[in-house]
Amino acid sequence: MATRMKRTLTQGTIIAAMLWLATSDFANSRLPESVELGLEPAAGTWRATSNAALPALNPVTFFFKNILPTKATTAPKPRLTERTLHVRKGDTLMNLLLHADVPRGEAHLAIEALSKSYDPRKLKPGTEIVLRYLSAPAHEKSAKKTATSETFDGIRVSLRYDQDIVVTRNNAGKFIPKTVEKRVLNELVHTGAQIKTSLFEAADRADIPTNVIVELIHAYSFDIDFQREIRSGDKFEMMYERFLDEEGQVVHNGNLLYARLVIRGKPLKIYRFSPQKGVVDYFNTKGQSVRKALMRTPVDGARISSHFGKRRHPILGYTRMHRGVDFAARRGTPVLASGNGIVERANRYGGYGKYIRIRHNSRFKTAYAHLKGFANGIRKGKRVKQGQVIGYVGTTGRSTGPHLHYEVHERSRQINPMRLSLPSGLKLGGEALASFEKSRSEVDRLAADLPLQSLLASTK
Ligand SMILES: [Zn+2]
Repeated sequence: MATRMKRTLTQGTIIAAMLWLATSDFANSRLPESVELGLEPAAGTWRATSNAALPALNPVTFFFKNILPTKATTAPKPRLTERTLHVRKGDTLMNLLLHADVPRGEAHLAIEALSKSYDPRKLKPGTEIVLRYLSAPAHEKSAKKTATSETFDGIRVSLRYDQDIVVTRNNAGKFIPKTVEKRVLNELVHTGAQIKTSLFEAADRADIPTNVIVELIHAYSFDIDFQREIRSGDKFEMMYERFLDEEGQVVHNGNLLYARLVIRGKPLKIYRFSPQKGVVDYFNTKGQSVRKALMRTPVDGARISSHFGKRRHPILGYTRMHRGVDFAARRGTPVLASGNGIVERANRYGGYGKYIRIRHNSRFKTAYAHLKGFANGIRKGKRVKQGQVIGYVGTTGRSTGPHLHYEVHERSRQINPMRLSLPSGLKLGGEALASFEKSRSEVDRLAADLPLQSLLASTK
């Protein structure tokens, strides 16, 4: 990470909109409130600068030392020392503390306090834990007993890239938990690339993190079939958030805020926008959600092996109506719910073999047949989300080889999924549209102002 960061910086890239999201570790400070402009970054917000002028395009400079609180130098106080541990597989917090010679009673009290805001059983391998000790000042140490010069004062558990939980003693010596925002620097990365072989290859060339490119693929997947429609020479650009720690290391790659994909010369822009609290989606320039009610292809990278309509049945030999579309795919390929809905059945169903049917709304249902099996937890009555894995391609029932038989039912009649004019998701209107248009032009302006990382990267 560190070397990559350095490389990027020496290329003098695209770092903009730097903002302090949090201040001193143990201070009681809060994140600045996000300015309500609609776009919803992960935490805090670079948008907070949008009323003021954006900072100039500085390379990332670390002015941490300039703003660190200065320590008061008064009478000798107990000195705080910290010891950092990393959770390994199988560790419990209790074991870690005991191993670090924290007395069992103290460890117990500290963990008990921590449990009020965090379940210590959720501790993941790799999590950073800092043990805090107070040691008596030097002159006292020599005057008094030297046996236990250090007392255990608490722990700090790193929860997320921007959040810690700290347990410290209050004046009465009781352990108290507190959630603390970490110092992170939020920046916006504007980057892009031309596609030579695949989107992933291009993304890799432009140093775009996997989670960001996956977000882009998901956002476009209702309009674009990445397996079939992407050609060499197509290109894309995007803006996403990135978070750095005090050392300038990338600690988190945040949301994709904007993307522009150009396929055979045709540009398609999407913008992340939150029309209401708790709802985040991608919208095209007109304020239309790019999400469609149903996906056309509920398996990734599959080829259509049989279309909807009359055909000679491969097993029964006579001509009959094929009321779905067959996708040839390897056995075990994940099958995705093509829309949000409720599982109506997930069981064996005659010639369909292992079969799932989802009711999406009063108009549409979709069905998936010949499955090898169902995904964990998929059963009748279960609510599923669009794109969720519901089962796996197989060849159960009356089937000649591994494939997915996919049906779309409109008011209980099977229709051709490929002919379906897909009802789309939300279309913004009124105030929401006005707010979207405002943030859209803001993002467009930023994209126009920020040089593209790839232009610099391609000169190396
Ligand atoms: Zn079929």
